[in-house]
Amino acid sequence: MPMSMCGRCKRLYSLGSRCEPCAKARARMREKARVRPSPAERGYNAEYRRNRRIVLAGNPLCSLCNLRPAGTADHIVPLSRGGTNNLSNLRPACGPCNYSRGNRTA
Ligand SMILES: [Zn+2]
Ligand SMILES: [Zn+2]
Repeated sequence: MPMSMCGRCKRLYSLGSRCEPCAKARARMREKARVRPSPAERGYNAEYRRNRRIVLAGNPLCSLCNLRPAGTADHIVPLSRGGTNNLSNLRPACGPCNYSRGNRTA
């Protein structure tokens, strides 16, 4: 029976060019990539970056803790809940506050 080497894990398999586990792993990775869109697809686009600069220029302090300097713009209504990148939906937030808040609404 002809043997072929899996291009991924380098093991020898009798059928095809890749082994079953690797084929499944690849399919899983494709699936993950599909449900996890890129930052641009999630809405972190040019508009967000422009408005983030404006928000941070006017408000150097985090609006959530008022302690740390803001480095990010927090979506008041998260994009995942239909929020927009409008200035009215952005407020200055420091990294720790923004990330700890996650997708929860205020
Ligand atoms: Zn393999
Ligand atoms: Zn903060």
